[in-house]
Amino acid sequence: MNFTNSENLYKEACEHIVGGVNSPSRSFKGVGGGIPVFMEKGKGAYFYDVDGNRYIDYLGAYGPIITGHAHPHITQAITKAAENGTLYGTPTKLENQFAKMLKEAIPSLEKVRFVNSGTEAVMTTIRVARAYTGRDKIIKFAGCYHGHSDLVLVAAGSGPSTLGSPDSAGVTKNIAEEVITVPFNDIEAYKEALQHWGDEIAAVLVEPIVGNFGIVEPKEGFLQQVNDLTHEAGGLVIYDEVITAFRFMYGGAQNYLGIEPDMTAMGKIIGGGLPIGAYGGRVDIMEEVAPLGPAYQAGTMSGNPASMSAGIACLEVLREEGIYERLDKLGSLLEEGILKAAEKHNISIQINRLKGALTVYFTDKKVTNYEGAENSDGELFASFFKALLNQGINLAPSKYEAWFLTTEHTKEDIEETIAAVDQAFEKLSA
Ligand code: PLP
Repeated sequence: MNFTNSENLYKEACEHIVGGVNSPSRSFKGVGGGIPVFMEKGKGAYFYDVDGNRYIDYLGAYGPIITGHAHPHITQAITKAAENGTLYGTPTKLENQFAKMLKEAIPSLEKVRFVNSGTEAVMTTIRVARAYTGRDKIIKFAGCYHGHSDLVLVAAGSGPSTLGSPDSAGVTKNIAEEVITVPFNDIEAYKEALQHWGDEIAAVLVEPIVGNFGIVEPKEGFLQQVNDLTHEAGGLVIYDEVITAFRFMYGGAQNYLGIEPDMTAMGKIIGGGLPIGAYGGRVDIMEEVAPLGPAYQAGTMSGNPASMSAGIACLEVLREEGIYERLDKLGSLLEEGILKAAEKHNISIQINRLKGALTVYFTDKKVTNYEGAENSDGELFASFFKALLNQGINLAPSKYEAWFLTTEHTKEDIEETIAAVDQAFEKLSA
C-alpha cells in the first residue's frame, strides 16, 4: 500500500502540532514508531485515507463510533442542529429530552449533568464525591484510564495496594498521594487498601468492565464486594462508564452486571461522534453540584444542541431491536476466526471478548488484570498491527486497546478481516 500523502501530511503536522497528533494515542509510539495514517473519510465500517486506501475500521474512534461512520440518522440530526445554531448558552429542550433518555436507560442516574468529555465527567464525579463525604482520597485500579485530569494520572507503586506516584510530569506528588492504586480483580488487595486508608476514602473509581488494558471483565462477585466494602468504609462508588455505557447493551455495564454505583461518568458513545461527557447518580449526592450545592462545575459548551442531537440520534439507533445480538454474533465470528488462524500458525494468543468488543493479547496466559496485559508481547502485537494495516484493517496502535465492532460491519467484513489475520499470523510465524 502507498502512504505517500500520509507521510507528507505527518511531516507537515510535526511542524505545527506537538508530536504531529492531537492525542498521544494516535501516534504509532505504542507500536514501535511509524507514520500514523491520515484518514479522509469514514463511511459505515470503512475508512478511506488520503492516499485512497480503504480500511475496515475496528478503532471506532477509541469507542464512540458504534453505529459506524456517518450514520445517516445521526448525520441528519447534526445537520438540523447546525441549521438551528450550534450553541446558545441557555437551557434547551434537547437537554431535557436527552437527560430523560439516559435516566430511563440507566436507572441509577437519578440526576445528570452534561459536560464535554469523559475526562471532565470523571474529574467532576471525584470533586462531588469529595464534597459529599468531606474526604480527600480515592482508590483506582491499576492500568485503568480515567482521562487526563491530574488526580487520575497516577501510576501504581510496587506493592499490591499502594499510594500512587505521578504518571505524568506536572502532576504533583501531593496530588498523587491522594490516590491509592490496587490491582483489578484482587479483592484482598482492595481490603488491604481499605484497612490502611478506609476512613479517608471519598470514593473508588471503577471501570466495571475494563476497556483500557483490553476488555477485562470483573470476576464473579468482585464488584459487589467492592460496593459493599466501600460503603461500609463510608466511601462512594463511582463507575467510569465512558467506554462501557451503551457498548454492551442499551444501558450501562451496571445494567448488564446488575449492580449499581452511587455515581456514574459517561462519554464516547453517548455523543454519537460529537464531543460529550455526562455524569450523574444519587440525587442527594448530585445536589452537591452548583447551583444547588457547594461543588462547582460549569461549561460554556456543555449540553450544546449539536452534541445533544447527535447523542439522542445515536441512542435512537441503538434502541432498535436486535442491535446488540448482532454485534455479539459478529464478535463471536471474529473471535473464532482469529483463534483458528492462531492455532493454524502456532501463535499463542488470548482473546477477551464481550459482545462486539474484543482484545487480542499475544500471551498464553488468561488476562484478568493489568499485569497480565502488560506481560503480553508488545513486539508481536506491533508486527501484527502493521501487517493488518498493510492489508486494509485498521486497529488501535496499542496492545492495550480493544477492537470495536459497529452496527455497520457485515459478515463479509469479518471474513475479509479473518483472511488478513491469517496472512498476518503466517508472516509472524515465518
Ligand atoms: N474514562 C475512560 C474509561 C476512558 O476510556 C476515557 C478515554 O479513553 C476517558 C475516561 C476520558 O475520556 P475523554 O477522552 O473523552 O476525555
